[in-house]
Amino acid sequence: MHRVDWGERAVETGLRMLRCELRACPRSQSALLAASLLVIAVGENGCSRRAEPAPSPPRHNVLVITYDTTRADRLSCYGYDKRTSPNLDALADDGIRFDTAISQAALTPVSHASIFSGLLPQHHGVRVMYAAEGYRLPREVPTLATILAAQGSKTAAFLSAFPVSEFFGFDAGFDEFDNGLDGRPEGVLTERKTGAWDWESSASQRRSDQTTDRALEWLGETKEPFCLWVHYWDPHDASLRPPREVNQRFLPPPSAGHWARYSGLYDAEVFYVDQQLGRLLDALKNQERYDSTVIVVVADHGQGLGDHDHWYHRILYQEQIRVPLVMRLPGGPKGRVIPELVRTIDILPTILEALEVNPPERSDGRSLRGLVEGRTEPSRTAYAEALVLYDLNARDLLQQRPDDELLHCMMDKSWKLIYRPLHPEKSELYHLDNDPRETNNLFAQEPEQAARLLAELEQLDPFVAGPFGAGTDQEALDHLRSLGYTGD
Ligand SMILES: [Zn+2]
Repeated sequence: MHRVDWGERAVETGLRMLRCELRACPRSQSALLAASLLVIAVGENGCSRRAEPAPSPPRHNVLVITYDTTRADRLSCYGYDKRTSPNLDALADDGIRFDTAISQAALTPVSHASIFSGLLPQHHGVRVMYAAEGYRLPREVPTLATILAAQGSKTAAFLSAFPVSEFFGFDAGFDEFDNGLDGRPEGVLTERKTGAWDWESSASQRRSDQTTDRALEWLGETKEPFCLWVHYWDPHDASLRPPREVNQRFLPPPSAGHWARYSGLYDAEVFYVDQQLGRLLDALKNQERYDSTVIVVVADHGQGLGDHDHWYHRILYQEQIRVPLVMRLPGGPKGRVIPELVRTIDILPTILEALEVNPPERSDGRSLRGLVEGRTEPSRTAYAEALVLYDLNARDLLQQRPDDELLHCMMDKSWKLIYRPLHPEKSELYHLDNDPRETNNLFAQEPEQAARLLAELEQLDPFVAGPFGAGTDQEALDHLRSLGYTGD
């Protein structure tokens, strides 16, 4: 008798929830059906489980494309004088281009963790490429994939290099996770590096055309709603070379010298990745899914290319952390350019809002919807970090640039502080409006601006007092070494 009474109460509770859902979300017929079925099941079984309504599936598909190592100012839609990005330019004309988007780190795993969690590094926990701890995204951190998978989206990731692999915890929430490390040699320049040890680049990366082939295969077989992440790596270094005809278009003659050739190859790689973006967008259009998909293209960081006496990345000047960010939202504006400062942590809340999916409890980012719709909003400040000293993968950089051992950046649209906690007197302050290339350090001349940004930095409390964990994770170290990823 008691069991039946409880069952009746459960039915009542379930019906109350159902009525609430009806008022809150009249569009979701399938969720209502699922909730009704759950109520019936509870009533019949007298089970003590609380009746939870099933989540309603997201209303749109999601395609996030992350460009590794791609400087905003090397893309034609960001003003570059070579036509390196015709497909991204067209997407920007058809959507929204953010002119001042700041990445939270110029290091692949740290930056990607912020993009997909909407959290600052000190909150998601990925701070370095490698140490005993602090390099893996904890399973309990909600990400775009875990959130949308729980809502019923089909999720897949097609990636091009080891630094976004499951080693760093990026596989959570994906039904299909293709890390790009299957060692298929075709189309890849297999370069045998020699040094402290030998390694083959094809074991840790693949070219963008191969990644795109796999993503297109999956798209063709997958019903909606889906959440697809595609990651491209080509511009990261000189290992993945585009086909000869693309190279010839951008490469200067050998007489131009090594670094001019390197820079030309970079343009060729950026262009080749853009061709792959075009293939993905064409597929969405052919499948009539272009208008029902939230499309985001963003870079994880830029590349030095000789600026500030640095050719690669990890540090925090604008060529490193100002990234391209282009979005197209179903029903959203076309051809809008947003000059305000935004952060890559704002991407996750923006996507979820477009999908009418609740954001996670903790978020450091803020949805960009207001800016997208042309409303005036309180301005943002952006944080970025480089913890070179505690990254066992950054020994070379530490030797070359000892002053860059620990860098914490706080910036607004006009002013930027690069703070060195171990040597505050060597910190840098730039007035970006007057000095966008950061050549005139005003740290000593403008103490009030420096103090203002430092106070904001201290509020975020990103400082690290010592190494991440004790010793090394030997298994992880061996794995990294086999892929050529230990820079000692
Ligand atoms: Zn990267």
